[in-house]
Amino acid sequence: GARIGVLALQGSFREHITSLKKAGADAFEVRKKEQLDCCDGLIIPGGESTTMALVAERWGLLEPLRAFAKSDRPIWGTCAGLIFLAEEAEGQKEGGQQLLGGLHCKVSRNFFGSQVDSFECELPVDKCLGGIDSQSGEAATTRAMFIRAPAILSAKDSVKVLAEYTTTDEQKAATGRDKVIVAVREGKLMATAFHPELTDDLRWHKYFADMCVEASALRPNVEPASSPC
Ligand code: GLN
Repeated sequence: GARIGVLALQGSFREHITSLKKAGADAFEVRKKEQLDCCDGLIIPGGESTTMALVAERWGLLEPLRAFAKSDRPIWGTCAGLIFLAEEAEGQKEGGQQLLGGLHCKVSRNFFGSQVDSFECELPVDKCLGGIDSQSGEAATTRAMFIRAPAILSAKDSVKVLAEYTTTDEQKAATGRDKVIVAVREGKLMATAFHPELTDDLRWHKYFADMCVEASALRPNVEPASSPC
């Protein structure tokens, strides 16, 4: 299986490790550059994007992460991870915050408001997530948990939308939008505004693990001399 690292600086990394293992992947925590070097793919979890960026900077991981984002190895960002991957974020902390970039989206950091505005819903998703189609011909759905969640306000054509969320009347009144993008894929980058790792729906982790296996199959096989992982 694919060796998938989960950035473990802050946030819900343990839940991702558990889901990845259940999905049959080889999963481990990443806190150092050497560990990053032996990942076929990386998950950047939810948490708090400004804190995560600060810790990454302090631990000398920002540039290695930027290099990883530019490589051919897949990254999946959930929630704060989605913000971190975006080319542009609005609602950033004063003085700005570091972003990895690579995902050609404009993200609103706290689109849905604060903790009290967190919610769960049954979200229609794109058919491309293997096996996610229902027999009845109705749109397939996933249980989506939005926790102080960001949303994607706009995306370039290179970005494929995997899920769109229709706001409630109340959310529409607060945000002025009746629809936002909440899951995307752009080449080897994937991002979700919600948290599949907090549910027992493993399809997202399986989908990402498949992306990592495909990407690693295309790569020349250069193993590190001694694996630090
Ligand atoms: N809105 C948060 C941020 O700015 C992300 C919340 C989350 O990851 N659950 O980082």
